[in-house]
Amino acid sequence: MWQSCKLWLLSFFRLFVPRRCAVCGACLDDGEEVLCLKCDIGMPRTNYHLRVDNPVEQRFWGRFPLERATSYFRYCKDGDYRRILFRMKYEGRQDDAEAMGRLMAADLVRSGFFEGVDVLLLVPLHPDKQRLRGYNQSACIAQGVSAVTGIPVSVGNVRRLKFTETQTRKSAHQRWDNVDGVFEAVDAAAFVGQHVLLLDDVLTTGATLTACADALAGVEGVRFSVLALAVVER
Ligand SMILES: [Zn+2]
Repeated sequence: MWQSCKLWLLSFFRLFVPRRCAVCGACLDDGEEVLCLKCDIGMPRTNYHLRVDNPVEQRFWGRFPLERATSYFRYCKDGDYRRILFRMKYEGRQDDAEAMGRLMAADLVRSGFFEGVDVLLLVPLHPDKQRLRGYNQSACIAQGVSAVTGIPVSVGNVRRLKFTETQTRKSAHQRWDNVDGVFEAVDAAAFVGQHVLLLDDVLTTGATLTACADALAGVEGVRFSVLALAVVER
């Protein structure tokens, strides 16, 4: 309750302050969302959706039935563009997450990336974590993608079973162990024969998305594509 009040107050007060670019802090013009034109043009886009067998696809080879995979931009630890993710995760900017979902989808839709996708499935947060933050930023990104593509978002059909520690300080091996078996299908039948687009905000090892796909292993005819807003390159 307090969390939703806080989020409401934050968005109310934002009505009275100038909208600023998430990256450089410049005031945004009408029609600009999250990024100013200069930062939009300079964004380190991967354009992996235009490359078959791209490095993001390679991360998932042999893990689950994969159609295609991409990440929108490169995440650098000290780069200015990580502020986009910081704002949507820690400053209550659900509007940023949804706008980035729309921006990313509008760029990708022209290449046919979404063709044949039946449903969007985001990585669920543990209910305790969602309560703490008040929202799931990946759900907001998914709403933005859905608004552009018309593809429905699957809600509540996969859930997170245990509260995992943060992945940030773990080694690659520990990350895989940490999320193994962490998701469970609530309604596996909903995914029979479906092409599922797995969505996340940041892709690191791919362990979390793989664990999410594992929850649907054995569902007849299910296949996956992967879309993350940002990718940490190794
Ligand atoms: Zn800017």
